[in-house]
Amino acid sequence: MTEKCKICLIRDMAEKADIYEYVKKTRAMLTDADRASDVLYESRLDICTGCDSLLAGTCRKCGCYVEIRAALKSSECPVKRW
Ligand code: SF4
Repeated sequence: MTEKCKICLIRDMAEKADIYEYVKKTRAMLTDADRASDVLYESRLDICTGCDSLLAGTCRKCGCYVEIRAALKSSECPVKRW
């Protein structure tokens, strides 16, 4: 079983609080039709926190913040893990 990283998401890093505010604003700006549900969002982030490609909130496969990538309902993991 893969051990989950507890500090890999921006929301878990106090020193990146300003970036997390940007993440929250970006997610809030999406329409209800475009925004992933809370359940879908958390399930995606759960996969990311168990992924070797996650580094300090950034996906090393695509270079984006996973908390933003996961927010858009139609978005996909670049290597199809979600
Ligand atoms: S988006 Fe995909 S490749 Fe990137 S960290 Fe998440 S699960 Fe891993």
